[in-house]
Amino acid sequence: MHTIGHWVGGKATSGIPGRIGPVYNPATGEQTANVALASVDEVTDVVSISAAAAAEWSKSSLSSRAAALFRLRELVDHYASDLAALVTAEHGKVLSDAAGEVARGLENVEFACGIPHLLKGIHSTEVSNGVDVHTVHHPLGIVAGITPFNFPVMVPLWMLANAIACGNAFILKPSEKDPSASLLLAQLVQEAGFPDGVVNVLQGDSEAVNALLEHPDVAAISFVGSTPVARHIYETGTKHGKRVQALGGAKNHMVVLPDADIDAAADAAISAGYGSAGERCMAISVVVAVGAVADPLVSAIAERIPPLVIGPGTEPASQMGPLVTEAHRDRVRSYVDGSEVEGATLVVDGRGDWPAGFFLGCTLVDHVRPGMKVYDDEVFGPVLSVVRVETYEEAVDLVNANPYGNGVAVFTRDGGVARRFGLDVTVGMVGVNVSIPVPVGFHSFGGWKSSLFGDSPIYGPEGIRFYTRPKVITTRWPDPSTSVVDLGFPQTR
Ligand code: NAD
Repeated sequence: MHTIGHWVGGKATSGIPGRIGPVYNPATGEQTANVALASVDEVTDVVSISAAAAAEWSKSSLSSRAAALFRLRELVDHYASDLAALVTAEHGKVLSDAAGEVARGLENVEFACGIPHLLKGIHSTEVSNGVDVHTVHHPLGIVAGITPFNFPVMVPLWMLANAIACGNAFILKPSEKDPSASLLLAQLVQEAGFPDGVVNVLQGDSEAVNALLEHPDVAAISFVGSTPVARHIYETGTKHGKRVQALGGAKNHMVVLPDADIDAAADAAISAGYGSAGERCMAISVVVAVGAVADPLVSAIAERIPPLVIGPGTEPASQMGPLVTEAHRDRVRSYVDGSEVEGATLVVDGRGDWPAGFFLGCTLVDHVRPGMKVYDDEVFGPVLSVVRVETYEEAVDLVNANPYGNGVAVFTRDGGVARRFGLDVTVGMVGVNVSIPVPVGFHSFGGWKSSLFGDSPIYGPEGIRFYTRPKVITTRWPDPSTSVVDLGFPQTR
């Protein structure tokens, strides 16, 4: 069986023979390949190749970087359907959704094309007699990105584009569950004319990740994944002196107020709850029905489920594909099994027999409460819970008591209440009648609380700040006519 390898120093490599992991087609359940799992020695090698590349690349002109990024933009756009096909083959999401992921990833390359403007420093003239001050932004050197299975193109592009635009070398450690798209991305980086070693892809698991976290020459780590691993990455990376942004899991609520348009809210709940089989960090997991809206809203959501087409992601008619692995499907199923035992009401049951693949149907659970596992845990599957509350205040208290704070949405026609909601919630990204409020590439993305460790959101302006360090240069050009000996501390007034 084919073994998916790495991309190091500008070329594909199978690496040192060693441990491997399985890669599946989730729609059939069949293993389609193995993936190489890098050793500590391979991490050491890729770091030294990256160090040599970073030393040269950091000196490249901004115009040459922008030109290469524009070429990368064209190539990613040109190969968008190939990237999407690789995502569908290994992740399972439907092709149209995979294409959407590539398009959202591309936004980050487009943003980075503006790097000459983004890296402008500031200058103050005559801060004291004959003295000027200006700031410059240096790259960090080698930065690494560790990415999750659920967006194998978009999340690497959240990091890669800004990291290399700023003059760093970038090492990507993709998810071992769907490793192929990262290799095509690396090939496109090469074709765009970036020097060898500026982007390397090392396949692997926790062994490679921990070696990157401990390597003294890796300056920064960008991580996106589950909360327990994000906490480990943040604690270990910072202990080893690195700058770390570690984005974790989520439990996103959609609050539907009594004045909301029921049909629009039900459409949004279906789209955000079951799109990508619920395997999005910004998926809606909990619908919070306020007051009398609950019964008609639950009915409207339930009646939209039977017509949904669930099937292989490669079938044009499919609206929802399988889950990523059998183990994950079984884990999600266990929450459905447990929900009735815990006292919730199973309105639509997505279990049932599927002929092949890691499928689970859309599931709707009503009368869910905090304390039930289906509410407390990040389920990360096509399971939508409904929590009923009586008032706006109760809804906000529920959202704010949750340990996660990635995304939240409010559905209402009342602008004043929507504005107040935006100020009241302790969540990083808020949608007003928008169920998946993922910021565009020229803003930045980041949750609060257990959804983000470290103080830096990812991509956009925050990405540029994360991948550079500032320097302030104070300059005086000697003017022989004013030169005196003065042992006092320099003053500006
Ligand atoms: P995961 O945490 O299992 O894996 C993420 C990465 O960490 C992978 O590359 C994996 O190889 C590595 N890893 C796993 N265990 C490790 C360990 N013990 N030590 C070191 N490295 C380890 O996450 P996943 O299952 O691939 O992705 C789904 C999770 O990611 C969900 O919790 C989802 O909410 C989250 N996510 C968050 C965001 C966000 O922006 N906040 C975006 C996408 C996904």
